[in-house]
Amino acid sequence: MLSLDEARAAAAAVLDPELPVLSIADLGILRDVAMADDGRVVVSITPTYSGCPAMDVIRRDVEDAVHAAGFDRVEVRTVLSPAWTTDWLTESGRQALQDYGIAPPSRRTTSTGPVALSLSVRCPQCGSPDTRESSRFGSTACKSLWVCNACREPFDHMKAI
Ligand SMILES: [Zn+2]
Repeated sequence: MLSLDEARAAAAAVLDPELPVLSIADLGILRDVAMADDGRVVVSITPTYSGCPAMDVIRRDVEDAVHAAGFDRVEVRTVLSPAWTTDWLTESGRQALQDYGIAPPSRRTTSTGPVALSLSVRCPQCGSPDTRESSRFGSTACKSLWVCNACREPFDHMKAI
């Protein structure tokens, strides 16, 4: 007898095709994994940046992964509300981005008082906050291209939304 935990683990391990160091659980887009009365596994995901073509790939990958875990019938539902924000990234997801050389998004909200005034983006290579945006659009629409003034390395920054 397969347990729902196995379906959940299979879905959670699916990697984002644009940021293959992040699982969809790390991204915060995996909302729910449930078993319907008729035995279907229903996986709910929330799209990231609007219009990201990655969602179609993710949807297919989730179906494949849950099938591979031994579940015959899988349905992937898209949940649009509440809308995803980069604040849903997990700490391990932010760390994985940083290790991959992508500056993680700034937090838009904090649990303690007003939004921080400093929105400086730290260089993922050397850690310097002395950076500047060189192009609104990086390798994908979800990222912008930055340059570090300290080590002069260019890097991607995942935009906060
Ligand atoms: Zn640097």
